[in-house]
Amino acid sequence: MQGTERYAPGARIAVLTSEPIGRPLDYLAPEDGCEDGAFVLVPLGPRKVLGVVWGAGDGTFDIKRLRRVLQVLDVPPMRREMQQFLQRMADYTMTPLPQVLRLATRAPGLFDAPGTRKIYRLGAGTPERMTDARTRVLEVLADHGGAGFQLGELAALASVSTQVVKGLAKSGAVLEADVPRDAPFLRLDPARPSKTLSAEQAQATDQLRAGAGQFAPVLLKGVTGSGKTEVYLEAVAECLRQGRQALVLLPEIALSSEFLSRVEARFGALPGEWHSGVTQTERRRLWKACGSGEAQMVVGARSALFLPFRDLGLIVVDEEHDTSYKQEEGALYNARDMAVLRASICGAQVVLASATPSLETWANAESGKYARLNLNARYGVSEMPQMQSIDMRDESIESNHWIGPTLVGEVTKRIQRGEQAMLFLNRRGYAPVTICRACGHQIGCDHCDARMVEHRFQKQLVCHQCGETKPIPTTCPSCKVEGKLAPVGPGVERLAEEVRERFPDSRLAVLSSDLFASARALKETIAQIAGGGADIIIGTQIVAKGHNFPNLTLVGVIDADLGLQGSDLRAAERTFQLMRQVAGRAGRAEAKGIALLQSYQPEHPVIRAILGGDEEAFWRAEAAQRQSQSVPPYGRMAGIILSGPDLKPLFDIGEVLARQSQPLRDIGAMIFGPAPAPVARVRGRYRVRLLVKADKKAPLQPALARWVEQLRLPNNVRLAIDIDPQSFM
Ligand code: ADP
Ligand code: ZN
Repeated sequence: MQGTERYAPGARIAVLTSEPIGRPLDYLAPEDGCEDGAFVLVPLGPRKVLGVVWGAGDGTFDIKRLRRVLQVLDVPPMRREMQQFLQRMADYTMTPLPQVLRLATRAPGLFDAPGTRKIYRLGAGTPERMTDARTRVLEVLADHGGAGFQLGELAALASVSTQVVKGLAKSGAVLEADVPRDAPFLRLDPARPSKTLSAEQAQATDQLRAGAGQFAPVLLKGVTGSGKTEVYLEAVAECLRQGRQALVLLPEIALSSEFLSRVEARFGALPGEWHSGVTQTERRRLWKACGSGEAQMVVGARSALFLPFRDLGLIVVDEEHDTSYKQEEGALYNARDMAVLRASICGAQVVLASATPSLETWANAESGKYARLNLNARYGVSEMPQMQSIDMRDESIESNHWIGPTLVGEVTKRIQRGEQAMLFLNRRGYAPVTICRACGHQIGCDHCDARMVEHRFQKQLVCHQCGETKPIPTTCPSCKVEGKLAPVGPGVERLAEEVRERFPDSRLAVLSSDLFASARALKETIAQIAGGGADIIIGTQIVAKGHNFPNLTLVGVIDADLGLQGSDLRAAERTFQLMRQVAGRAGRAEAKGIALLQSYQPEHPVIRAILGGDEEAFWRAEAAQRQSQSVPPYGRMAGIILSGPDLKPLFDIGEVLARQSQPLRDIGAMIFGPAPAPVARVRGRYRVRLLVKADKKAPLQPALARWVEQLRLPNNVRLAIDIDPQSFM
């Protein structure tokens, strides 16, 4: 156990709150004293706020004027290693510490007294009278299976008053029940038998076991279907045997019930679940169970990294290359990198699993910083699909159609054989552009520098930057001519139209995140498809992530060139990853699969690398190129985004920054910009960006801090620092 400091009554202590003050404030310890890391309520001005005891006070404030801690909350104190983790994360990402603390205290109702509480769940009765509000309540309950909610939470989710819920309870359509605050978690048993592993899997498992219990990052690289999950579940088993806790991070969308069932099958009980679809009550329960050590295993999205584990012994980051690990709003951090940081502090093993690792991780394995385990064969009889390009310059295709004759022929063959075919297009909506044929005007968002995307299913235009919607107009907003507006280019909805026209007798499913009301609905549809409920599947990138369609034998990529446009540092890497992942969907069971890529530039080096299948050659070429330009992972970068209501002042500030660059020149860094950010206006705020590029070993953060410190920002201008930027939007 850590040696926690205890503070005597009236001692001067520092308390960190998540209020935007920037640093811990001094208080007096309460009457019974308190421990370091204790969660406390303190007075702040006229309010009571939640805080964490953050060491001894610094003594700058007159002790006679210090206020006393009001209450120590009945939860285990924040451990020293968690405090260190938050501090180092704040330092690394240059996020104010209070903002980082907020990530670690995000479990509403956390501090309510134990006992019983009332919950509301679906009942069998029917109300005499249905109203929209009542329907919404019942829908929310139905959507969450058998889960129960607290009154306020249910009312908020359904956007109704609490009276509506109580009315339903009277009729029996909703049941009111008293439940103990926290049902215990069932024990996971690592001694239950694992599957019989292949030789390759067994070897990887042995190596993971050998490294258990200490900080040691491992890249677990294996094609889709090679059994990475089976292998890392054995690492979890070893961690549980050692009596420590295990955390498995997954991209939100990959958090399926299928995955949870696999855990249950292996260990005989379900793990704790932490993501946006989990009710507040459940979150609170899991938060506490992590702190007490009762929760042995947590499966969660990126924010699960901030749970107060008592003794974390393993972190698995599945699909470690996934861009959704990067949080792009508020605290800007990459959960994969922060997982490695957290593990290094608490002495945990780290497994980064992927079929197509990020270049960062690949390079760390190359340099020996991470160990690397390979799974080369798909489990069982299935092989990696064959990949071929279709040269679109040779295809004759009518206007406003996107499936070439070759691909149409191949899809037809699959359907005749009773197999499934998937068409992949990474574009939501009906058409990316709406243009006026009279004046050439393109309909844009009023608040962003972006074109509005037609979503015909929702009957509106949507801005993919800010979410703004408007009705699809019939007259051009610019020249006022009627009936001349036309969609340009395809989105998945338009592709669906083409499929219905060409394959009128086939059953079609369209998988796009915006077409489903909830993650649960999407997952249900995926399960139906896996069970044979569709012949043709159209999907955006959500289909690339880990879903298992056993009868799928053909993947057709409508536009393999799409991701190669644009100047993004990672364009090649992302296209390569996405194409390999999508192709990996085909041929998982006995039937052999093929992936066909429609491309207008099949000779492009990235397309050739994808088809060639020599992954290591691709990574080496990509690495050499980045190395020659000293960009990540061979150099460091930071983005500085200035945003505000007017463009001119942002540029002026940006120019000042660029001129006063001594702190950066001291470490040999280079500055680019100011330039308009690629999306130069979002939600009515202009954005100007500077990029800083430094040597890998350069002390970038302190230099950046000295650099931006010189600035006095006007109130309406915000400055955000993005260390290791992922997207260059
Ligand atoms: P990955 O995580 O690499 O995509 P999975 O672990 O999901 O691979 O394995 C793919 C499929 O093969 C799953 O359905 C899994 O249950 C099965 N599988 C993998 N290894 C074994 C094994 N040793 N015994 C039985 N089934 C296995
Ligand atoms: Zn917008």
